[in-house]
Amino acid sequence: MAAPRKSNRSAAPARDASAATAAPRAIAEQLERHGVRPSAQRVAIASYVLGTEDHPSADQVWARVKERFPMVSRATVYNTLRHFTEKGLLRELVLAEGRQVFDPVVEPHHHFVDDETGAIRDIPWNALKVAKIDELEGLDVREYMVVVRGVARGARKG
Ligand SMILES: [Zn+2]
Repeated sequence: MAAPRKSNRSAAPARDASAATAAPRAIAEQLERHGVRPSAQRVAIASYVLGTEDHPSADQVWARVKERFPMVSRATVYNTLRHFTEKGLLRELVLAEGRQVFDPVVEPHHHFVDDETGAIRDIPWNALKVAKIDELEGLDVREYMVVVRGVARGARKG
């Protein structure tokens, strides 16, 4: 038998079909390791945004989290995403003008933006090589990222 759980006033444990969702306890531990107190709402937000490969905007995160937690406010989602970013759990990226997205992959990598769908995909760091970046005169490069734009082959419109 499972160990007795502390009673919890929140709803029954949600069955989740999404592969992007980790167990709430693992999420809570991940938050704690980064110095974030794992409130129920933070765990709900984290369980989506830390597991997704979608590079969602804040409003997309809000829409997703609301499906399961209808009471969560836009401000809470925005503040939580900012907090996660400050704690190093997320990176905030601007990959197109006026389009801020969040990325749980904080290690260096590149991005592909699909011109037709707007979808953003990761490109592994080692898949591209940027030559001579160390030779840029007068610049001490701290980091860089390549954003590749185009259309995904195989996803042709009818
Ligand atoms: Zn990414």
